[in-house]
Amino acid sequence: MKNLFLNLAVLIPVLFLSSCGISDESLEQKAQRIHDEVLTIDTHCDTPMYLKMEEFDIGKRNNREEGGGCVDLVRMKDGGMDAMFWAVFTGQGPRDEEGNQRVKAEALEIIDSIKSAVGRYPELANICYEPTDAYSNEKEGKRSVYIGMENGYPIGTDLGMVEVYYDLGIRYITLCHTRNNDICDSSTDKKGPEYDGLSEFGEEVVQEMNRLGILIDVSHISDSSFYDVIRLSKTPVIASHSCARALCDNPRNLSDEMLKSLAKHGGVIQMCIFTDYVKEPEPYPARDSAFAALREKFKDFNDLSDKEMEQARKEWSALQREYPRKLANVSDVVDHIDHIVEVAGIDYVGIGTDFDGGGGVEGCRDVSEMGNITLELVKRGYTQKEIEKIWGGNFMRVFKEVRSFQK
Ligand SMILES: [Zn+2]
Repeated sequence: MKNLFLNLAVLIPVLFLSSCGISDESLEQKAQRIHDEVLTIDTHCDTPMYLKMEEFDIGKRNNREEGGGCVDLVRMKDGGMDAMFWAVFTGQGPRDEEGNQRVKAEALEIIDSIKSAVGRYPELANICYEPTDAYSNEKEGKRSVYIGMENGYPIGTDLGMVEVYYDLGIRYITLCHTRNNDICDSSTDKKGPEYDGLSEFGEEVVQEMNRLGILIDVSHISDSSFYDVIRLSKTPVIASHSCARALCDNPRNLSDEMLKSLAKHGGVIQMCIFTDYVKEPEPYPARDSAFAALREKFKDFNDLSDKEMEQARKEWSALQREYPRKLANVSDVVDHIDHIVEVAGIDYVGIGTDFDGGGGVEGCRDVSEMGNITLELVKRGYTQKEIEKIWGGNFMRVFKEVRSFQK
């Protein structure tokens, strides 16, 4: 009797599954189905930089090989990408009144350009402000575009600007970029630490972001800044595009201790798919010196006019063609996810590609190829529930918590 029950218990789900055809799925079909069913969100790309280019149209299918970048609304749909955070990125410039005013104007202009570009295609996408927006757009088959700010430089030393950007729709702020600013120390400033973490003003910025319900992004900031934020922030924080330092020793990545601390605080790390952060590079001196010369020529890409920036981008692409770098691949990326799951847990990892800011690996060169990450996760035995968490559930949990803290 016991055996019969056991057999039935095994048999019934099998019959049920085969009648739905699910048990006959190939790995590829299964991955595609899961990719379509779950909400997918990528928390970092620098696509707004392309909006300045006349020949670039966000509502058309652009070609990456021909300088059309990694993201547009059509390729988002091709790649089953439901939602993305587009970054209002500004390179760190002079921290004086003039510099602060200039970067503020630049940030406002970028926010405007994102809204008007997306606004031209209401049938394809919407600008979004709340976590629920992405789910309702998904039901309508529309893309969701959220706005984040990479580098708190446009806040300057004026705390009131945090609310100005919030009112304009900014939902996360990466506190700094590659250099220290008035908020905190960067992980990569050659001059080293200035405050050993957050500045006094930076502490106020964190509290103001908590009050308004803006996500605090710890990508790019130094380890001491990270721990200061964890101590001070009343809500969980995100790393919008960072990897595991244990697998790729780059100061931009999070150590195991940081991963544990981020998770304990309820936050999430969004895996970056930028080769430099995924895999330690093999030596390539000719390439290194060519790029060092380019950086020198264009002042490390800081304080450039639009025209100079466009020229820099062209020369950058030419060097990429002349000295092609061996890219990391999707399997390398998923190694980081495995590692984060092992160290911090399945509830604390997501994806933030850094497309159009250097992101893109073999097998996932642009947003149309996002499904390959899901395929690799399926091959490694991740369940649909786990994949749903990685592709958006974890991030949305944090986003909702930060939004409900508001008031
Ligand atoms: Zn970045």
